[in-house]
Amino acid sequence: MNVRQAPEYPQWPQYDATEREGLIRALEQGQWWRMGGSEVDSFEREFAEFHGAPHALAVTNGTHALELALQVMGVGPGSEVIVPAFTFISSSQAAQRLGAVAVPVDVDPRTYNIDVAAAAAAVTPRTRVIMPVHMAGFLADMDALAKLSADTGVALLQDAAHAHAARWQGKRVGELGSVAAFSFQNGKLMTAGEGGAVLFPDSELYEKAFLRHSCGRPRTDRLYKHQIAGSNLRLNEFSAAVLRAQLGRLEGQIKTRQQRWATLYPLLEKIDGVVPQRADERTDFPSHYMAMFRVPGIGEENRNALVDRLVAAGVPAFAGFRAIYRTDAFWEMGAPDETPDQLAERCPHAEAISQDCVWLHHRTLLATEQDMHRTAEIVADAVAAV
Ligand SMILES: *Cc1c(COP(=O)(O)O)cnc(C)c1O
Repeated sequence: MNVRQAPEYPQWPQYDATEREGLIRALEQGQWWRMGGSEVDSFEREFAEFHGAPHALAVTNGTHALELALQVMGVGPGSEVIVPAFTFISSSQAAQRLGAVAVPVDVDPRTYNIDVAAAAAAVTPRTRVIMPVHMAGFLADMDALAKLSADTGVALLQDAAHAHAARWQGKRVGELGSVAAFSFQNGKLMTAGEGGAVLFPDSELYEKAFLRHSCGRPRTDRLYKHQIAGSNLRLNEFSAAVLRAQLGRLEGQIKTRQQRWATLYPLLEKIDGVVPQRADERTDFPSHYMAMFRVPGIGEENRNALVDRLVAAGVPAFAGFRAIYRTDAFWEMGAPDETPDQLAERCPHAEAISQDCVWLHHRTLLATEQDMHRTAEIVADAVAAV
């Protein structure tokens, strides 16, 4: 009998003495909020510089990062925001929470990124923002989107929750001329458990966002002069200290994931019925937030059974996102004047992907080369068995 050794995937999140020292440093400052300490300021500077953006604003989480960005970009009641139908729900919820309508459009069946022609067809006089989501760290077609934005005058907001350090034709997310929102939630490529950031290409939007993220209060205000309406979305000093340490490890870890994906991709591709996610080749530094693949035609129930089998074999596997219009949450407020079935008809690829897609946690791609072979064998066995 051939007893296969189970792959050993590293834990996530990871830390070492750098995080520990950062936490002690923040602790011993004696001031634990950003207005008193220096960790958030330093992290923002480092994160902005790393991504080639003039300004970064750290916030409480990625969902708030999207909300804040949309708000300072002028989204509110009466606006429409175009989002891919296949994404994590925050992309649409952020728009809906501001009283805007989230308009889902279809995605590309290979990259799972927003279909730019579908986005163009969905633009109306009320459209304020188009939100590409860089799925699993493979960038959306930023050239076509930049052209669409220039042609229509509609701004882009990149949901970069998966795309820390990723590059499009050599340019990092902060160098592409549009606002970009990040998440530092526990599973993301760098994390403090929770946290988020927004990169701004210009100071006007950044200044507005700073006020709004701090109850409308200027940085130096001591007299409660709240200039504009806002909320408290400030990141704390401990989280920023951890994120500074995480940023230092990010690029090296991504390079490992790129090497492992280069091994795993052809192995997955060879499995009967399996089609791994493809990058637009202009994404020349993908960040590999997830290792995704489809089993076209498998059906939702069998896909879920496949995920269960992979988990039972020790592989950290998950079902792909549900199409946003297939959730109850989507219909609570700010939904377009269409039925779920009409949306499914308009978004056939998102509909199919959400039923046949599986993703593996990015810690899978931090294991050994040999473990990539073992992983592919487990996937092949599981696919054959369902
Ligand atoms: C994780 C994620 C978010 C939200 O980030 P949180 O920090 O969890 O609020 C937004 N968009 C996408 C695509 C995500 O994966």
